Amino acid sequence: MLNGIEIKLNCNFFENREALEKIAEKIIFTGPIDQFYNYQFGELEYRSLRFETEILDEKKNKLYEKYRQLANQDKNVIFGGRLGQYKYYDMDKVILEVLDCVSNIKNATF
Ligand SMILES: Cc1cc2nc3c(=O)[nH]c(=O)nc-3n(C[C@H](O)[C@H](O)[C@H](O)COP(=O)(O)OP(=O)(O)OC[C@H]3O[C@@H](n4cnc5c(N)ncnc54)[C@H](O)[C@@H]3O)c2cc1C
Repeated sequence: MLNGIEIKLNCNFFENREALEKIAEKIIFTGPIDQFYNYQFGELEYRSLRFETEILDEKKNKLYEKYRQLANQDKNVIFGGRLGQYKYYDMDKVILEVLDCVSNIKNATF
């Protein structure tokens, strides 16, 4: 599956950002979306995503929405997974989401 694809293990995106951005036409980022944008609207809480009250959830979702809008304008990056999309995903859901994402990439013209 990964034939012909270079893999770097133990490579933190933020510690190698400049070099990685230079070599990539398109980045699929599965880390925290708020960190990707230097927390410019504030920090999103990840750990307690599932257990918060409705009011707190709403507040956090509004904050995420700001990052999502920023991400929509960013044509070189695709945010995937629970940290990139700020959603609780069970494994089956995250796999479906990845398949959808790949299919969208294949159908899109960049
Ligand atoms: C405690 C816990 C228990 C869970 N239990 C279940 C369960 O029982 N059943 C179930 O179906 N699901 C469970 N889940 C959910 C499941 O873990 C997720 O659905 C799945 O892991 C989401 O995949 P993902 O790729 O979105 O995120 P992750 O699996 O978190 O993958 C994110 C990837 O991004 C990489 N990354 C992040 N930041 C950087 C960076 N700065 N630089 C480079 N790489 C980076 C990480 O190394 C990681 O490989 C559980 C989750 C948690 C947290």
